[in-house]
Amino acid sequence: MSRSTNGTESRSTWTAEPAGIAAGGWAAVRCCAALLATAPRLIAPRRPDQRLLTSLSVVDPPAARRTVRVRSLVHRVRQVPAPVVVEGQFRPATVASAMVTFLVEHPDATFLVDPALCAGTQARVLRGMAAPTRRLLAAGGDGPGVVEVLQAADVDPASIDFAVATHVHWDHVSGMIDLPGVPLWASAEERPAPPGTALRARGGSIASLYDAIRPEPFELAGPPVLTFPRSHDLFGDGSVLAVDLAGHTPGSVGLLLATEGGRALLVGDAAWSAVQIRRLRQKAPFPGWLVDGDRDQAFRTLHRLHAMPSTVVPVPAHDPSAAQTAVAAGIFS
Ligand SMILES: [Zn+2]
Repeated sequence: MSRSTNGTESRSTWTAEPAGIAAGGWAAVRCCAALLATAPRLIAPRRPDQRLLTSLSVVDPPAARRTVRVRSLVHRVRQVPAPVVVEGQFRPATVASAMVTFLVEHPDATFLVDPALCAGTQARVLRGMAAPTRRLLAAGGDGPGVVEVLQAADVDPASIDFAVATHVHWDHVSGMIDLPGVPLWASAEERPAPPGTALRARGGSIASLYDAIRPEPFELAGPPVLTFPRSHDLFGDGSVLAVDLAGHTPGSVGLLLATEGGRALLVGDAAWSAVQIRRLRQKAPFPGWLVDGDRDQAFRTLHRLHAMPSTVVPVPAHDPSAAQTAVAAGIFS
């Protein structure tokens, strides 16, 4: 890891473990380094790049010839310390963090965005993770799986035509285990977390999950939309556009959804909280260094989200209050 005095961060050296250091030991080293780096960020959050902000222009999305209906199906919610989600934020001291699957109903198909959890995720997916990471992620216990949250919303799981992943981290695709035969789509640039990173242990059930996830790829070959350089129109009618949100992972995308009530952008984990987008604050080094694939690129993407027109409601996957904002605005059902 190198970090210059002007606040740039590059974590390319963190993507592989050095020879001679066991995976567990290397994970511990990375955790300690991230914790040490977090202390100064609590006082001095990373500064926005004003030059980048002024360089961004907004391209109107294509007119939507059809619209979708969107619902947020919550698996579970827990409170987490605010400063680790939003650098430098202490009040309120905690923020809600949710596991959510989004249900989207289009005239031609019913699909899920980020089918988050299967039934019994801890036993079936997290079992293979390094112990400290597993304990951190397992806090709050299992929520219901995707089949259960669909049934609770009076949706027949058999009616799901396909799923789209904003990225393929475990907490956005584990539900696929319980949806056999349902195709999963993701950006062609998206790859499962590489071995040796905090989100993939060597062997174990989580590795099996990533080995089992074989997304159908789509290319972001379409024109710029809003502040984002590339896009892909899923139905060719302007109702569902994937846009480039690379940084958290190489192939992270957002889903821009046109509804009768207005537009929302599902941003996956490009931000964990809408407050990050509003205040332009990145995740703290702990756990940001452990989960963001490219911190500098993730921060640039955060600038693009910040510069979106206020008429588009950003909805991070783990921010239940953002989903409530979309409901209040008449965008989510
Ligand atoms: Zn996530």
